[in-house]
Amino acid sequence: MTRTRARLPLHTRIFIGMIAGAALGLLANVTLGGSPLLKGLIANVTYPAGQIFLRLIFMVVIPLVVSALILGIAELGDPRRLGRIGLRTLAFTLILSASSVVIGVGLANLIKPGEGLSETSRAALFEIMGQQEGGLKEPPKPKTGLQIVLDLIPENPVEAAVNAMRGDMIAVMVFALILGVALTMLPRERVKPLLAWLQALFDVVMQVIDLAMRLAPYGVAALMFTLTARSGWEVLGRLGLYMATVLLGLALHQFGTYSLVLRRFAGLSPRLFFKRIEDVMVTAFSTSSSNATLPTTLRVAEQELGIPRPIGGFVLTLGSTLNQNGTALYEGITVLFLAQFYNHHLTLGQQVTVVLLSILSGIGTAGVPGGSLPLVSALLVTVGVPYQGIGIILGVDRLLDMCRTVLNVTGDLAVAACVARAEGHILKP
Ligand code: ASP
Repeated sequence: MTRTRARLPLHTRIFIGMIAGAALGLLANVTLGGSPLLKGLIANVTYPAGQIFLRLIFMVVIPLVVSALILGIAELGDPRRLGRIGLRTLAFTLILSASSVVIGVGLANLIKPGEGLSETSRAALFEIMGQQEGGLKEPPKPKTGLQIVLDLIPENPVEAAVNAMRGDMIAVMVFALILGVALTMLPRERVKPLLAWLQALFDVVMQVIDLAMRLAPYGVAALMFTLTARSGWEVLGRLGLYMATVLLGLALHQFGTYSLVLRRFAGLSPRLFFKRIEDVMVTAFSTSSSNATLPTTLRVAEQELGIPRPIGGFVLTLGSTLNQNGTALYEGITVLFLAQFYNHHLTLGQQVTVVLLSILSGIGTAGVPGGSLPLVSALLVTVGVPYQGIGIILGVDRLLDMCRTVLNVTGDLAVAACVARAEGHILKP
């Protein structure tokens, strides 16, 4: 029995935790709903257990955002690497990321997967997901356009970091961005120690997330129990609609946008392209990691598509960390879904912020399983949605992660094919 459990992959155990937590929660809801026993169980056992898991992730959000963004910009801006090919890569990356987020945000507005939750469920949700600890706050006083711009630049980055989880996250991101740009303007030799330090910080933070993820099966079970014991089936129905929205968005971008771009800019038949990159898609789906898929992506680019090795090597390596279309699309939908869930209206301006930050988050997301989760919390904070809400989507995240990673790597290959064609190379017919 123990041996079988040890052999189950983590994502299967997370899934089992989700189903078990949700089923037991529903059972408790039906049999004990509203009783002091159930209230006590939630308040003293399942709620704190879920929070321990979430807090392990939240506590590394700031070091992660700072190190990932600075490293991302530094990598992108390395003058030795950024020439015409680099600029073309950047242009295609930005266009594809922007269109993916627009699809995501558009669908979330159209389908509204998180809307229509009953008042009872919403009240329960606030209690569970810790409104009292940094959830929805008093609506901030309206700011003038100029003040909004000024507030993007922190007077004191340490103060911005302290207040980051209460809404100053964007100032922290801007600080990291400016530092990253400044770093690329100096000779590499001078900034090498800082880069090495940031890389080490990034690695350590990812290790903390890895440790937290080992607790995920139990944390997710506790969160799901708390949620369904309080609000019954309703939340699960919304979650199903949210997943359907993400999957629809991913499919539209994968087969719609990429097909158009490939035909127009790479002169490739989309049908042939998808057939030839099957290995890459399967590897991405099963590993949930763009980085782990990179060797396969490099091989397929050269052997199956005929992308010259120097171009493939450059564009795909960079893309495996910087070009994350699937992730950006998913982030846009997730933020809107949770905002709808909490009945937190996002203005057009805030939705534009979501789009821009989702593109930026694509740059900061590590190409590893669940790499985008801390950045989603950062995005939620920025638009004033309770970041504890990610507890709601964690149970289903792995499946969505597998699917969005397929898009991430397909996007890298699409960019590589377009850049190769723009450089005058004819790809395999
Ligand atoms: N797993 C994704 C990747 O490796 C990143 C994420 O969206 O979490 O591309």
